[in-house]
Amino acid sequence: MRETKYIFVTGGVASSLGKGIISSSIGKLLQARGYKVTIQKFDPYINIDPGTLNPYEHGECFVTVDGHEADLDLGHYERFLGIETKKANNITTGRIYKSVIDKERRGDYLGRTIQIIPHITDEIKRNVMLLGNKYKFDFVITEIGGTVGDIESLPYLESIRQLKWELGRNVLCVHLTYVPYLTAAGELKTKPTQHSVKELQSAGIQPDILVLRTEHELNLGIRKKVALFCNVDEHSVVQSIDAPTIYEVPLLMQAQGLDETILKKMELPVGDTPGLGPWRAFLNRWHQAEKTEPIQIALVGKYDLQDAYKSIREALSQAGTYNDRKVEVNFVNSEKLTDDNIAEALKGMAGIVIGPGFGERGINGKFVAAKYARTHDIPTFGICLGMQCMAIEFARNVLGYADANSREMDEKTPHNVIDIMEEQKSITNMGGTMRLGAYECVLQKESKVYEVYGTEHIQERHRHRYEFNNHYKSEYEAAGMKCVGINPESDLVEIVEIPALKWYLGTQFHPEYSSTVLKPHPLFLSFIKAVIANLPHSDQE
Ligand code: GLN
Repeated sequence: MRETKYIFVTGGVASSLGKGIISSSIGKLLQARGYKVTIQKFDPYINIDPGTLNPYEHGECFVTVDGHEADLDLGHYERFLGIETKKANNITTGRIYKSVIDKERRGDYLGRTIQIIPHITDEIKRNVMLLGNKYKFDFVITEIGGTVGDIESLPYLESIRQLKWELGRNVLCVHLTYVPYLTAAGELKTKPTQHSVKELQSAGIQPDILVLRTEHELNLGIRKKVALFCNVDEHSVVQSIDAPTIYEVPLLMQAQGLDETILKKMELPVGDTPGLGPWRAFLNRWHQAEKTEPIQIALVGKYDLQDAYKSIREALSQAGTYNDRKVEVNFVNSEKLTDDNIAEALKGMAGIVIGPGFGERGINGKFVAAKYARTHDIPTFGICLGMQCMAIEFARNVLGYADANSREMDEKTPHNVIDIMEEQKSITNMGGTMRLGAYECVLQKESKVYEVYGTEHIQERHRHRYEFNNHYKSEYEAAGMKCVGINPESDLVEIVEIPALKWYLGTQFHPEYSSTVLKPHPLFLSFIKAVIANLPHSDQE
């Protein structure tokens, strides 16, 4: 049996350098060589998981199939590698401490004093090795959130130091830093990298490979200098230059032999360089699509931050590529939308996505958008809260219940077309208590979704507390909004659509989480296809 190899990816100098993309790219390259690879993320914050975090803090909350609310980097891992991550793929300091404290309360430590070393570090190490031991991966790549030098990262660095000592050549550390370009001097500066490596060394870790994030080509001189000052060989200094798309990064890494260097350092056979055929085919198609006239999609939501709807943006872009068109996503702030300005706000938009969300803020704008889209027959996709808004708007303006609402927005609504389930009512713990993760859904044969999926049974990921109220189902159906996807166990409505319109569909689940580069999601493909078909003839290309 092969021993599991552990690769740690740390970051220095600045945050947001793209550790997630580098981790995913390394994973992709090793996977292409036939290895079983997974990637996990350790976040040094105290929250148990990001489920309770405002999207402004860390961007979107990703959801794994097994119902874990996770960091958005897990979305990158899944999109690049086409794997399904699990709860064990995202650990926070909060979870590490909670687990240690729970053990202490149970008396597992037999009266000993609990300390960061060895108890917290042992728990970190256990969580790193869990994936290797339990699921038998060949490679476990562990991305450490934050930047080297943060107080919060110290226990993680200490754990890496210990593992490097204990497992020798089975552990490798990749450190990602930034090489700034000083315009006035016309020079790239390596000093921050040198300092960052020193910081890592002071924690007892000698990085094996340095990936230097840069906006300008690094010449041999610079690589040699970094190699000399940081105790790594020249081959192990790799540049990560700005790319037109993040999906180019694996190829850029492969061209510099990063995967080869890793294999050599871990004493594994190198063999032939994989061709990455399907990946390259996707990229070629992406580049072709980039040259087309972009189709404008409005993303109606309240979080004005790129990362807040990361997976939706990626799924739309992938669907664009597979439909050979560039898709431009335009954020439309629902807090500012009114019946009076909607026509102006959606001018030039060929399709609308009404996004997920929580709470009352910005909700009226979503009703306004749903109504405008429905009455103007613009292809529209409602996701989670977006689907609930489609249903509420329909109840208000078609079924005649002017006061219809979700109990989330109005506790006392007399027409609770969206309501909370009985078993959810008593829950006061805000973390991890929603309907989370993959649930089964049966599609009605006479429907657009059935056509789209081409199968009756699907599974999709959820993250919500409120549900469509079945009490109103027959009224909806009689008036033209059909409930076409049902959970077979609970009878809950998962999908609504208006067949009389070109493409007006809402899902209670989040299809965006399972759209990957090589397997784009059928609903997004169909949505973009409908948007293109609905363009004025001259724009259809
Ligand atoms: N706030 C809604 C609910 O909890 C929708 C959640 C979402 O859009 N993810 O049901």
